Amino acid sequence: MSTTTRTEAIRAAVATKPRAVSIDAAAVFTGDLYGQNVFDLSKMQRRLSKDTYKALKKTIETGSQLDMTIADEVAAAMKAWAIEKGATHFAHVFFPLTGLTAEKHDSFLVPAGGGTAVAEFSGKALIQGEPDASSFPSGGIRATFEARGYTAWDVTSPAYIFQGPNGATLCIPTAFVSWTGEALDKKTPLLRSMQALDKQAQRILKLFGHKEISMVTATAGPEQEYFLIDENLFYLRPDLYINDRTLFGAPPARGQEFEDHYFGAIPERVLGFMMEVDNECYKLGIPIKTRHNEVAPAQYEIAPVFESANIAADHNQLVGTILKRVAKKHGLVAILNEKPFQGVNGSGKHVNFSLGNKTQGNLLDPGDTPHDNAQFLVFCAAVIRAVSIHSRFLRACVASASNDHRLGANEAPPAIISIFLGEQLNAIFEQIKAGGAKTSKGKGTLRVGVDILPPLAKDTGDRNRTSPFAFTGNRFEFRAVGSGQSIAGPLVALNTIVADSLEYIASKLEGKKGAALNDAIQDVLQEIIKEHGKVVFNGDGYSEAWHKEAAKRGLPNLKTSVDALPALLDKVSVEVFVKHGVFSERELESRYEIYVETYVKTVKSELNSAIEIAKTLIVPAANKHIVRLGETLAAQKAAGVKGDATALKKASALVASLQKGIAELETLREKFSGDATAQAKHALKVRAAQSKVRADADALEAEVADDIWPLPTYGELLFIK
Ligand code: ADP
Ligand code: MG
Repeated sequence: MSTTTRTEAIRAAVATKPRAVSIDAAAVFTGDLYGQNVFDLSKMQRRLSKDTYKALKKTIETGSQLDMTIADEVAAAMKAWAIEKGATHFAHVFFPLTGLTAEKHDSFLVPAGGGTAVAEFSGKALIQGEPDASSFPSGGIRATFEARGYTAWDVTSPAYIFQGPNGATLCIPTAFVSWTGEALDKKTPLLRSMQALDKQAQRILKLFGHKEISMVTATAGPEQEYFLIDENLFYLRPDLYINDRTLFGAPPARGQEFEDHYFGAIPERVLGFMMEVDNECYKLGIPIKTRHNEVAPAQYEIAPVFESANIAADHNQLVGTILKRVAKKHGLVAILNEKPFQGVNGSGKHVNFSLGNKTQGNLLDPGDTPHDNAQFLVFCAAVIRAVSIHSRFLRACVASASNDHRLGANEAPPAIISIFLGEQLNAIFEQIKAGGAKTSKGKGTLRVGVDILPPLAKDTGDRNRTSPFAFTGNRFEFRAVGSGQSIAGPLVALNTIVADSLEYIASKLEGKKGAALNDAIQDVLQEIIKEHGKVVFNGDGYSEAWHKEAAKRGLPNLKTSVDALPALLDKVSVEVFVKHGVFSERELESRYEIYVETYVKTVKSELNSAIEIAKTLIVPAANKHIVRLGETLAAQKAAGVKGDATALKKASALVASLQKGIAELETLREKFSGDATAQAKHALKVRAAQSKVRADADALEAEVADDIWPLPTYGELLFIK
C-alpha cells in the first residue's frame, strides 16, 4: 500500500507543470508594480492636506509620536485608498514573541440603520488596536486579570494591502505592548534600540565636527535561505508537516558533494515560483535584489537591498509569508526551518548590518580621507567592543531548538561568537594596537586622523562563511541567525550594544578638539583592540584548532539553547539594555521564560512525532520486511536451497534496538517536570535519546525493501521537483 502512495506522490510531483506567472513581464514593466500596494509617502502626499502631510512626514522621518489631531485625516485617506484597492478589512499586524506574524482583522463596515452599512475607519482605529493578548506568550508580564494588550501603529513602517483569494486587507504594522507599557513583541524593543543608537551615534558625529547631522538609523539586509519541496511528497511526511523538519531519513545516495547546485541553473518550476515571489514583494515595496540556488539540493536564497532595520525586519517577516503562500500555488512547500534534513546544509539568514544617515552616509564605510577613516575606525571599534562584551547575549539571540542543529555543524558558523575583520582591516587594528599616538614614528604604526587607510577590499562574503560575524567591506554580516528566526532580536541586540560602545567612546572623547582629539581617538581605539581583540579571528571557524584556541582566549562556546538562553539575563548585558531604555529587567526575564518554554515545546512536539512515526510507520514496515525475508528463507528451505539469514538477523536486531529506544523515549516523555529551565535541561536528554532512535530507524531504511518503506526518502524529497 505504502509503495502505491509513495509512487503516486512521485508521479504527481513529476507531472506538475510550472505555473504560469500571474504577470506577463513583457506587457508590464515590473518597476510599475513597485510599491503598488503600499501607502507610501507619494500616496500620502497626493491624498493628504499639505499641513497633515508635512506633519506625518516629519513623524516618519524622526520616528516621533503621531499627532492625534491629524490621525482622523490620515485614516480617512488611507481607508479611501484601501477601498479602491479592494480592501474590505483592516488589520493591525504585530510580531509576538513566537517569532511569527499575528494579525486581527476588522471589517470597515458598520451598520448605519435602515438595513444599510457604511465603511468607517477612525484615527483612533488606525493608531491603536486591542487584540486579545491572552493567547500570546508574555512570560509572566501579563497577569490574567490584565489580559489585554494593545497594538500601536509604527508610523515609520508604512501600511500596505495584502491581497487574499477573496478580497484584500489593509495591514497596519504595529507595536504590541501590555497596558502597563511593557513590550510583548519584537518591534517595540527594535524601535527603542534604533533611538538609542541614533542618540549615541549623533554624539560621535558631532565630535567629528559635522554641522548637519540627520537621524542615524541601523540598516539591515537579510539574505534568506529556504528549502522548496514538492507538496505531494511533503504531505507524506508527518514529521515535515507537523515539525517543519524531518526527524528520520537516511542520507541520499547523492548529496551535495558535487557542489553543482550552488548558483546552478534554477529549475523552471522553481524559477516560476521565484518570479511570482519577486512580483508579490515588489507590490509591497520590498526591494528584492537576488535569487539563486544555495549549497544544498532543493535549497535557495532570496535577498533584498538593505533598508532601515525596522522596515527590513517587517519586510523579512512578509517575505517569509509570501514564500509560503506562493509556494503553495506552485504545488511546493517553502521550508524556513534551520535544519529540515540531517546531514544536509541547513538554512541561515545572514543579517547584513550597518548604520548611517542621509548626511554622512554609511558609517561603516571607510571613506577616503584621514578624517573619514578615523570616524570609520571609531564606529568599527564600537562594534568590536560591543560584540566582545556581549558575545554571550548575541549567541542567546540566535538560540532556538532548530538553530541548535545548524550552528557548529560544520556548514554554519560555530556557536563561538567571533569577528572576522579581513586581512587589511585586521592589519590596521594590529598597527593601532602596536603603535602609540604620540610616539608613532616607526613603520607599521598608523596615526589615526592623519594617515590614510589603504583601500579595503570588499569581501565577496562567501570566502569566510565560517565566521559568525564578518566585516564585508562596508558592513558587518551576522551569520549565526537562523532562517526561521525574526531578525528583530539580533538587530535589537546589535543596535543596543553598539549604542553602548559609542556612548563609552563619546564619553572619552568629548571636550577634545584637533590634535588632542586625534590622540584621544588613537588611545581609545588602542585600548579597545587591546582589551577586546580576543574576539577577532580571521581563520577557519570550522576547525578543531579554533575551538581549542577560542577556549584558550576565554571565548564562550554555548553549544545549545539550554546553555545560551540564560545569557539573556547576564548582568553585564542586562545593565546595558536597561540603561539605554531598550528592555526593562522584567522584559528580559519574560523573554527568557518565553524562549525557554518555546524550546521545550518544540522538543516535546518532535518527541511526540518521533514516537508516533517510529511506532506506526517504521516498525510495522520493518516487520513486514522481516516477514517477507522469513517467507523467502522458508521457501528456499522447502526447495532444498541454502538461504542466507544475515539480512533477516540484521533487520530483527535493528527493530529490537529501535523498540527499546522508543520505550526509552516514552519513559523520558513522562519525566518532564518542574519549571521551564528544568524542563529544558531534561529536553537535552530527550534529544540525545532521540538521535539514537533515529540512527536505528535510518539504518532500517537502508535495509527494508523499497516497496514497503512508507516515507518519501531524502533522495525523493530533495531531488524531485
Ligand atoms: P553576499 O552573498 O556577497 O553577502 P548579497 O548581495 O547576497 O551578498 O547580500 C548582501 C546584502 O547586504 C544585501 O541585502 C545588501 O543590500 C546588504 N547591504 C549592503 N550594504 C549594506 C549596509 N550598509 N547596511 C546593511 N546591509 C547592507
Ligand atoms: Mg552575505
